[in-house]
Amino acid sequence: MSHKITLIRGDGSGPEIVEQAKRAIDKAIEVGGEKIRWEIFDAGADVVAKEGTPLPTHVIDSVKRNKIALKGPITTPLGKGFRSVNVKLRKQLDLYACVRPCKYYKGIKTRISEPENIDLVIIRENTEDLYAGIEFEKGNADTIELIKFIESKDKGKIREDSAIGLKAISGFGSKRIIKYAFEYAERNKRKSVTAVTKSNIMKFSDGLFMHTAEEISKNHPEIKFKHKLVDSLCMDIVQFPENYDVLVLPNLYGDIVSDLCAGLIGGLGVAPGANIGDDCAVFEAVHGSAPEFKGTYRLNPTALILSGVLMLRYIKENDAAEILENAVAKVVEDGKYVTFDIAKNPTEAVGTKEMTDAILKEIEHLSV
Ligand code: NAD
Repeated sequence: MSHKITLIRGDGSGPEIVEQAKRAIDKAIEVGGEKIRWEIFDAGADVVAKEGTPLPTHVIDSVKRNKIALKGPITTPLGKGFRSVNVKLRKQLDLYACVRPCKYYKGIKTRISEPENIDLVIIRENTEDLYAGIEFEKGNADTIELIKFIESKDKGKIREDSAIGLKAISGFGSKRIIKYAFEYAERNKRKSVTAVTKSNIMKFSDGLFMHTAEEISKNHPEIKFKHKLVDSLCMDIVQFPENYDVLVLPNLYGDIVSDLCAGLIGGLGVAPGANIGDDCAVFEAVHGSAPEFKGTYRLNPTALILSGVLMLRYIKENDAAEILENAVAKVVEDGKYVTFDIAKNPTEAVGTKEMTDAILKEIEHLSV
């Protein structure tokens, strides 16, 4: 028996990190688990010339077949060019739950005074909200028509030279992500779920999300439920991160708050993530393709390796997951073979491959 998993190498600095994450996962599986057979694909800016699209159909088909993928980051050009491949993939596979654990590993430098107590999980709705990319361009006939329609309904005045983005939050989408968050909390023995919105201003859209959370929380009396406005949460979580456990948020707030939380635990180099649907799951770091680092082999592989840990747990390879997480934690705590972003002295930092070599050695050490 073996696992068949799609591996999307990404673009920019993606392939450099993906290569190392694959080595680490393969090594952990060697120690205890069923071998992984990878189906490896490129996607993103580098394949457009050859394939005519940044996300070829055969890549999506592979994920649909295998049900699981590990993915490197993919660049989304600003303003023009193709739309986000990441958003498209999540929508096409209906990966509605974005799960981003935010846990502090000893040894990482951070500005927080007592980071040891940070162990929270962000659960972000992944398919709706402003982030769905439903937009109307300035000056377009449809946009003008929409503006006139909105004004005819007495919903307020919009300047004619406006571009418009649509924020749609459904009862269905809210219910399934909030249900997922409470069930996640139960499965993982978490104590509280905090729903985060701006429902005091966006009474219908964010209000629907908040009221749905209140309703669903009644089915889970053993989990403490809180609601927090997103602006107040941002301040509070920086001051008292230890007060938070599971957070559930609509798409856009989830995106922003996950980067904020990555900052609490040492930055994007150490923040893992997963996109989960009813049929498929795609595991990827929170960070992007950091194109300015392409070819430098300097970036931290930890975020994607820890995404691999989440993937191993998802496929029930718990021993391999544990050994891999412990090996990463040990290398990070030792601090001798770590990349520039978490090194105590950046002039002594090592590169992506050297840090992974140290993790591989640690896996060997832990397995004897
Ligand atoms: P980014 O996450 O790529 O990089 C921002 C900065 O964070 C980098 O300059 C670097 O200093 C640091 N950083 C990121 N990853 C790191 C790592 N592994 N180790 C150490 N430091 C790291 O964000 P960006 O520059 O805003 O985005 C670049 C591109 O990636 C954009 O096109 C964006 O749309 C895309 N993106 C893709 C994904 C994804 O594929 N899921 C996610 C976010 C952004």
